[in-house]
Amino acid sequence: MLPLPLADRYGRVATDLRVSLTDRCNLRCSYCMPPEGLDWLPTDQVLTDDEVVRLVDIGVSRLGVEEVRFTGGEPLVRRGLMDIVRRVHEAHPDLEQSITTNALGLARTAHALKEAGLTRVNASLDTIRRDTFAQITLRDRLDDVIAGLAAARDAGLGPVKVNAVLLRGHNEDQAAELLAWALGEGYELRFIEQMPLDAQHGWSRERMVTAEETLALLERSFTLTAAEEPRGSAPAELFTVDGGPGTVGIIASVTRPFCGACDRVRLTADGQVRTCLFAREESDLRASLRGGASDEEIAERWRTAMWGKAAGHGIDDPSFLQPDRPMSAIGG
Ligand code: SAM
Ligand code: SF4
Repeated sequence: MLPLPLADRYGRVATDLRVSLTDRCNLRCSYCMPPEGLDWLPTDQVLTDDEVVRLVDIGVSRLGVEEVRFTGGEPLVRRGLMDIVRRVHEAHPDLEQSITTNALGLARTAHALKEAGLTRVNASLDTIRRDTFAQITLRDRLDDVIAGLAAARDAGLGPVKVNAVLLRGHNEDQAAELLAWALGEGYELRFIEQMPLDAQHGWSRERMVTAEETLALLERSFTLTAAEEPRGSAPAELFTVDGGPGTVGIIASVTRPFCGACDRVRLTADGQVRTCLFAREESDLRASLRGGASDEEIAERWRTAMWGKAAGHGIDDPSFLQPDRPMSAIGG
């Protein structure tokens, strides 16, 4: 059976599936979550491990999904993560499976995750200064994150990509320091523009550190050269640092959107298809799963949802409305 892909009316095809395994998290990054946390999804609404494995299987077998990334919230706080990875790997040994994580607890689990079939880790780290880390995340856990990243690298879960968000007045003056550290450790650092996806609705375009500003900050310390390889659907624009081989990526989600080449589709922890981080509509696959739908019926519902994907995120439209769910509940 040949998969019938997840196409949309603008000619894009989604092959990169992001699955949120939980909306809960053990950090409180200010650009993502309020200090007191959020009203977490009730357990009975969250997809079970069996349901996650089944949806991933439908995605790969029937819809042409080529890559799965588990995210959240924090995927490492999901008890079933290891089992889900193992079962998906057993069913689809060639599938690339990665996680996006804050790396807390990764020092303990990296080797086992590799053995279960995980291919790669994307981790998030905005500073290597302990006080700044605690200011941004409200937790004094920098050492655990650094140990987690090293464990992922040593377990063969590389190349480890590190995502950083620059926040004016907190860490934008540390961009070059973070890059020097990442290059020394062998991690691929990418700076992501802050997006209007925080639960507190505190984002403002005026305060956002733009990609252009990030490049200018880095160029005070390094010579950056635009990498020649085509960007394709990868959101990061790559630059070689001081002649290479080290690189740095810039993800200008807001100021230079890459929606025209987007190949992503998302599943929330409660089983809703989201065609975009900024989508205002969702399609309920959990109801189909629990209502006894067949794999093909679920696949068809998923295809229909995808056909309605918007052309772009529209942050620049005067009518732009931030989605109801924050990043942690969508799956970043
Ligand atoms: N907890 C995991 C982590 O932090 O990597 C996975 C979920 S987190 C929502 C995924 C990514 O989204 C992280 O790299 C984080 O820095 C990024 N992120 C969260 N809120 C953001 C925002 N408002 N703008 C840009 N990136 C954001
Ligand atoms: Fe948690 Fe990731 Fe959000 Fe930070 S960015 S609060 S680590 S979900």
